[in-house]
This record gives sequence, C-alpha cells and structure tokens, in this order.
Amino acid sequence: MLRPGNMMEPGTGVHWPMRAAGAIMGTRQALCKRRTDETPKMNVFPLETLDRESSDPANFTGPGSLRRIEGALPADPRVNVYRVHFEARSRTNWHTHSGYQMLLIVEGRCRYQKEGESVGEADAGDVIVIDPGENHWHGAAPGGAMTHIALNVNAVTSWGDPVSEEEYDAG
Ligand code: MN
Repeated sequence: MLRPGNMMEPGTGVHWPMRAAGAIMGTRQALCKRRTDETPKMNVFPLETLDRESSDPANFTGPGSLRRIEGALPADPRVNVYRVHFEARSRTNWHTHSGYQMLLIVEGRCRYQKEGESVGEADAGDVIVIDPGENHWHGAAPGGAMTHIALNVNAVTSWGDPVSEEEYDAG
C-alpha cells in the first residue's frame, strides 16, 4: 500500500522532514549557488558543502543519510538530485515515483527489486532507470555500505511498506 506525500521533493510541494530542512536552509543558501539564466557557468557542488540529513526511519530501514543537491539543474524539467548513503543492508521502503528516477551507483553494491521480479544487484558505475509508477526498492547489499546519486525527474515519491528481511534476503 502506498502512502503519498511524506517525502519532500523540492518544487513539488511534498514533504521530507521539515525539522531538517529548516535547520540547514541558511547554510545551503550560503554555499550553493542556484542555477539561473544569468549564470552561464559551471556550478560545482563539493561534497563537503552538502548538508547531510539522516534517513527518515518512516521510509527507510537501517542507518543511512541523504544530501540534497539543490539547484543543480534548471527548474524545467524539475530534476531533484540527491546523494543517498545506505549502510550494509539498509534500504528504502517499497515506493513509486510519478516520474522517472535514475540511480547512479557511486560507491559499494546496490541491491534493488522491482515488484514481481527477482532481487538484483548493481555495482559502482552502474546506472538504474526506474519507470514512472514502478513499485520498487533500493539499498545496500549485505557486504557493505552503498551510495547512489538519485535523479528524480518531475517526480513525486509515494511510500509503501518496509522491505521485510525475507524480501531483502530473497536475492
Ligand atoms: Mn526509487
């Protein structure tokens, strides 16, 4: 069962925990230039300038963290960019996105599953594209931590149930 609306996709009006968002807003505005039509130059987002939020336990199993890379891309189409870190075996709940999601694995081994298909794994350097409406989950494989960049294109996320140990271990 999917519960819409408990993760904020900036620009789409859905919420991620407001406590974190409010606390870090000032820092982010100081460090990250927003892309506008008046700034036809490279924008660089050094990792150490990106504020880290803990993963929301309502929608994730196990420890992990998230960094929003705000203003990375133009407003249209709206592409929300996140760097998401999962400790070994940590994973998202089942969920769907209303638009495409691209996952770029940058560290470790990703375990993922689309509903109705078997569990798969992907390595650093691999790319996963999830179609709008596909019910799925993603997280770290058992052997160690995993980090991916998520590009959510004109997408709102609808969260469902946690991925059980049995589901996770079916890989
Ligand atoms: Mn996803």
